[in-house]
Amino acid sequence: MYYNSIIETIGNTPLVKLNKVNKGIPGTILVKVEYFNPGNSMKDRMAIKMIEDAEKEGKLKPGGTIIEGTSGNTGMGLALAAISKGYKCIFTLADKQSKEKMDILRAVGAEVIVCPTNVSPDDPRSYYSVAKKLHEETPNSIYPNQYDNPANAKAHYETTGPEIWDQTEGKITHWAAGVGTGGSMCGTSRYLKEQNPSIVSVGIDSYGSVFKKYKETGKFDEKEIYPYLTEGIGEDILPKNVDFAMIDHFVKVTDKDSAIMTRRLAREEGLFCGWSCGAAVHGALEYAEEFLKEDDVMVIILPDHGTRYLGKIYNDDWMRDHGFLENNDYATAKNIIK
Ligand code: PMP
Repeated sequence: MYYNSIIETIGNTPLVKLNKVNKGIPGTILVKVEYFNPGNSMKDRMAIKMIEDAEKEGKLKPGGTIIEGTSGNTGMGLALAAISKGYKCIFTLADKQSKEKMDILRAVGAEVIVCPTNVSPDDPRSYYSVAKKLHEETPNSIYPNQYDNPANAKAHYETTGPEIWDQTEGKITHWAAGVGTGGSMCGTSRYLKEQNPSIVSVGIDSYGSVFKKYKETGKFDEKEIYPYLTEGIGEDILPKNVDFAMIDHFVKVTDKDSAIMTRRLAREEGLFCGWSCGAAVHGALEYAEEFLKEDDVMVIILPDHGTRYLGKIYNDDWMRDHGFLENNDYATAKNIIK
């Protein structure tokens, strides 16, 4: 038995029970481990869907170029799809994204353009604006725009949602995910709520992002926007893929709590995963501690793999520089014999 190309291996990722980091918290807490996808992140699911939709609509033609603003993972998914289908890729990334993500994209043949993080989205230097402009200037190119492209949420409606429903045999009561473009949270939530409207969805937001306040007040509050470090979640815009009706509650998580929980997932659960995974688990457990009952089943999505963050949250010096390791509880041991 074999696959015709690597993209056929996307999806059908395992669901794994948490055993340690949730000690004392009621309910069964399961994580959907998305680093089992070939690009090591859940974004493979929507990347292939965006490309196949563009092909069907006649927007993407042989020899075409895919140009996208990405925090790294969507780029990896697009690059894998582009390799097997014969397209070129150019990606714009904000300079806060990890070096590993940029190197990984270059390794799979993409051109990477690094843009400043702390400029407004409509600034011509922002990674959104640079991607749009390049698309306008490049013949036979597409700009999938994961923020507003319905194929993003649809991919999760068609794959992540049904997988979780089947894997829990319909017993899921709570669904939790970090929110960036909103595709994974909202597409999955829509499917799950169609199966059982009483399923509660919990969105994880970062401090420095507009989502939680917008959900609670209906107002876009610019005062909520300030720099933060966690990669992949939170936004300073309202993407069309964030459907607030599909998110019942938001929990905000700090960069430090996210980083420490990510280290704990690696060490205590053997889940060597990315920074937003720690954010999702920390936020979801905060919610669970207060609201879950013993019979409840919560599923939390873990978006990507730890290798992308070796230079940051898995690096003690980086952690200390950011004040995230002040009591050394989660430091790593280094023994070097010379
Ligand atoms: N975590 C990571 C590491 C990501 O790359 C993303 C995508 N921006 C997310 C979480 C959020 O997922 P979504 O875009 O589906 O909201």
